Amino acid sequence: TTSPRNRLVGGDLHIPVAGGLPRRYVDLDAAATTPASRAVLDAVQDFLPWYSSVHRGAGAKSQYSSARYEQARETVARFVGADPLTHVVLFPRNTTEALNLLAFRLRLGRDDVVVTTAVEHHANLLPWRRHARLRVVDVGQEGTFDVADVVAALDEHPAPRVLAVSGASNVTGWLPDLGAIAAAARERGVLVVVDGAQLVPHRRVDMAATGIDVLAFSGHKMHAPFGAGALVVPRRVLADGEPFLVGGGAVKAVSFDEVIWADVPDRDDAGSPNVVGVVALAAAAEELRRSWTERLDDEAALVRALDHELATVPGLRRLGPVSGDRLPVAAFVLDGTPHAVVAARLADEYGIGVRNGCFCAHPYLTRLLGLSDEEVRRFHDEARANRRDHLPGAVRVSCDQSTAPADIQALGRAL
Ligand code: PMP
Repeated sequence: TTSPRNRLVGGDLHIPVAGGLPRRYVDLDAAATTPASRAVLDAVQDFLPWYSSVHRGAGAKSQYSSARYEQARETVARFVGADPLTHVVLFPRNTTEALNLLAFRLRLGRDDVVVTTAVEHHANLLPWRRHARLRVVDVGQEGTFDVADVVAALDEHPAPRVLAVSGASNVTGWLPDLGAIAAAARERGVLVVVDGAQLVPHRRVDMAATGIDVLAFSGHKMHAPFGAGALVVPRRVLADGEPFLVGGGAVKAVSFDEVIWADVPDRDDAGSPNVVGVVALAAAAEELRRSWTERLDDEAALVRALDHELATVPGLRRLGPVSGDRLPVAAFVLDGTPHAVVAARLADEYGIGVRNGCFCAHPYLTRLLGLSDEEVRRFHDEARANRRDHLPGAVRVSCDQSTAPADIQALGRAL
C-alpha cells in the first residue's frame, strides 16, 4: 500500500483485451489529468455526508462546510508559500477560469501591455489577448527563451503592466528560470503572473521567496478531481471593481439602481461554490506537501529513463530541450508516421495512453516543429474550412508518481 501506484485511485488499472487477458493500462498522460490519490478519496468520503451551502445557512452542516472552505484557503496558501495577510486564495474551476478571472479583474485597457511567451498554453494567452496588447517573448526551435529576452521585453516601451509566464511547459516539461524572471519584473513594478498548472504538481513553489505575485493551477493535475482549481492573488488586485461572475454571495446590498459588492474574497465567490472539490484540492495539496522529497528523486529518474528510451528509437525526433532540469514530460515526432497514428497504435496495440496534437499550445508547436508561415497558413485555412488534412502536431508522453521506469521501457519497446 505504500508503493506510489497504490497511493492513487486507479493507479493500477487493467483494460479488457478481446480474446486475451486484461492488460495493465500504462497511463502516460499525466500532464492532461492525474488519477485521484487515496488521501483525496478519504477526505472526500469523510466530507460527503457533511457538505452543505457555504456562507449561507445557519445550521451545523453549513457552518462546518464554511469552516472547511475557509481552512482550504489557508492550506492552499501554505502549500504555495503565499502570505495570507497580503494574498487570498480563490477557487475557480481550473487554471483556465482562474486566468480568465484574473485578466478581467485587472481592468486592463486596450493600450495596456502584457508580456507573455511563445511557450504558453492557450489558457495563459487568450485571456490576455482578449483584454490587452500582447508582447511575446519568442523561442528558438529548441523551445526555450533566455532571461535576457524577457528583460528586453519588460524594458520596451510602453512599459508593461503584467508578465504572464508558464512555470513549466505542458509540451516539453521545460522549466523557465522563474526566480530570475520574477525578480526582473518585480524590479520594474510589473505584476508577475505564473501559470502553475504543470509546475505546482511537480515542484515545491514558494511564491513569496520566488517573487511570484499571482499563481493559478488546477486540482485535476495534482491528484484531485475536476472542478476545483486555485487562483492565489494579492488582495489589493481584487480590492476594486466588479467581479468576473456576478450573482448571489458576491454582494452586500442590491437594489435596481445600485450594487454594493462584498469584500475580498466573497466578491469573487458568486454562486454556490464547489466545496467538495475544494476539500479535495486541499487534501491533494497536503499530500503533495508531505511527499516532495521522495517524489523529486523519482521524477529525476523518470526524466533519465525517458531520455534514454527515446534516444534509442530510430527516426524519433525529440521536441524541446533534452538537458537541464525538466519535468517528466517529452514530446516527439516519428519520421514517416503521423502523430495520430503513433498515439492510436500505442493505445490499441500496447495499452499505452499518450496524447497527440498541439496540446493547446499552437504557437509553441509551430516553433518546435519549425513550421513555415505557409504551413501555418494552411493549418488555419483548413481549420476555418473544418478540414484536418494537414494537422500539425506531435506525440506527448507525461508521467506522475504512478509511473514506473518499467512503463517507460514498455513505451520504448512499443515505439
Ligand atoms: N496551463 C498549462 C500549462 C496546462 O498544462 C493546462 C492544462 N493542459 C492549462 C493551463 C489549463 O488547465 P485547465 O484545463 O485545468 O484549465
